[in-house]
Amino acid sequence: MSGAPIAIAWFRRDLRLDDNQALASALAAATPAGQVVPLFVRDPAILASWRVGRHRAERLDAAVAALDLELRARGGRLVVRTGRPDDVLPALARETGAREVHASRDCTPYARRRDRAVAAALGPGVPLCLHAGTLLVEPEAIGERRIFAPFHRAWLEALGSSALLGPVRAPGRVVVPASVSSEPIPAVAPRGEAAALDTMAAFAERADRYARERDALDGRTGSRLSADLHLGTISPRRVLEAVSEPSFVRQLAWRDWAAHRAWFDPASLGRTDPIRADDLAGGDPGDLPAQTRDPALPAAWAEGRTGYPAVDAAMRQLAETGWISNRARMIAASFLVKDLLLDWRLGLDWFERALVDADVASNALNWRWVAGVGPDASPWFRIMNPVLQGERFDPHGLWVRRWVPELRNVPDAFVHRPWDAPAGPPHGHRPRIVEHAQARARALAAFRSSAGVRSSRAGMRQGPDADRQGPGVDQ
Ligand SMILES: Cc1cc2nc3c(=O)[nH]c(=O)nc-3n(C[C@H](O)[C@H](O)[C@H](O)COP(=O)(O)OP(=O)(O)OC[C@H]3O[C@@H](n4cnc5c(N)ncnc54)[C@H](O)[C@@H]3O)c2cc1C
Repeated sequence: MSGAPIAIAWFRRDLRLDDNQALASALAAATPAGQVVPLFVRDPAILASWRVGRHRAERLDAAVAALDLELRARGGRLVVRTGRPDDVLPALARETGAREVHASRDCTPYARRRDRAVAAALGPGVPLCLHAGTLLVEPEAIGERRIFAPFHRAWLEALGSSALLGPVRAPGRVVVPASVSSEPIPAVAPRGEAAALDTMAAFAERADRYARERDALDGRTGSRLSADLHLGTISPRRVLEAVSEPSFVRQLAWRDWAAHRAWFDPASLGRTDPIRADDLAGGDPGDLPAQTRDPALPAAWAEGRTGYPAVDAAMRQLAETGWISNRARMIAASFLVKDLLLDWRLGLDWFERALVDADVASNALNWRWVAGVGPDASPWFRIMNPVLQGERFDPHGLWVRRWVPELRNVPDAFVHRPWDAPAGPPHGHRPRIVEHAQARARALAAFRSSAGVRSSRAGMRQGPDADRQGPGVDQ
């Protein structure tokens, strides 16, 4: 190796060159005339996990391929290595003589453990420098909040404060030491920051409709940026710069809120929380309503065979594409937890594996919200009616017919309640696995019990999408 300073830019959830403080710092550390090693580690702990499903794995490969192309356009290339990061990083530092490692900070418990292990393995001679960039506001900039509303106020203040750095530009040139080898770059169609910028530009054009139409079940008005934000193929600061529509900015606050809770309360992501149905039944599975012990129910939900068009369309679209709108996620989640009285963590796990944008923090926060678990959760009496939700947010049934083709000839008026159609339900339509009115009454009775009320003591909170109705309203 030459005597010029070398730094490693370790890409994780920031697979972009634009507005990447970690990369910019690695380049600065390697000045003058120094070289950087842009590194992506294929970490078996993540890639071999059953939690990473097909859609997410494919999208990651596409983003890695795109990052390599972006680097090549600037004279560099990506270095891919497979292994435990606390093995790969020290070995690469020794091999290249790198004096610093720069990376964007990640708030999940796994990332924190990993980064501690890497820092220890690198030793004091090669510091691991973590930079802001995956969130708009870092958790410590606000200090712990347990409820969204005060967090949101503090978050808006922090956003407006001068402490917030502006986006940094992509480097013009990246010089990588020629001797550093890389494993093959995934041979897939690249999809990374260029595509993310296009998605954002297209969204900016329609953002004025966002507040009015964002609940449409087909998700046409939303930004569709969740997977890009998760992988960091776009910077949240660039998104904020492009779109200032307040109801959209509020959703970005929800994203930071999920990371905030993960940072201050890692256990809240977890699998150690009370199971909703256990809670209701005093913890003895033998006391659960017979239905919640039926092993066929989770599969019917996951595979979109509940007989409720909105739930089935959501779950089939999820399986096929890895993405569904926020409203569809809420309807499907509410159905699992409240109509079926199943353990919310079944849904959490299923979504984590199926979603292309699966994000440990956001997924847990939202499932807990729907399930009414934790200090900042949905009111216990909030039970979505999948028929009314469908009629309201997919009034002509275009979305539901796309994903539940057996409904294709059912008139609009009955497409979300085909069992009421004068000609009867169409051939192939599954009978409903529960009757919503009965399931709702059962859930309300159960939640009214002390356990249900206790775990939703926070009462009516302002959720990501709060329809704030009382217990008497089927919504
Ligand atoms: C049960 C359930 C599970 C969810 N799991 C995930 C998940 O694993 N990963 C994920 O990114 N989102 C998750 N969400 C939140 C939300 O549904 C998606 O972020 C959104 O639908 C993505 O579409 P979009 O990019 O068009 O969103 P937009 O409406 O355009 O929102 C812009 C961005 O804000 C963020 N955002 C929006 N809503 C939320 C929210 N409620 N919580 C946290 N961040 C939000 C996302 O990054 C999103 O891309 C979940 C919601 C529910 C109800």
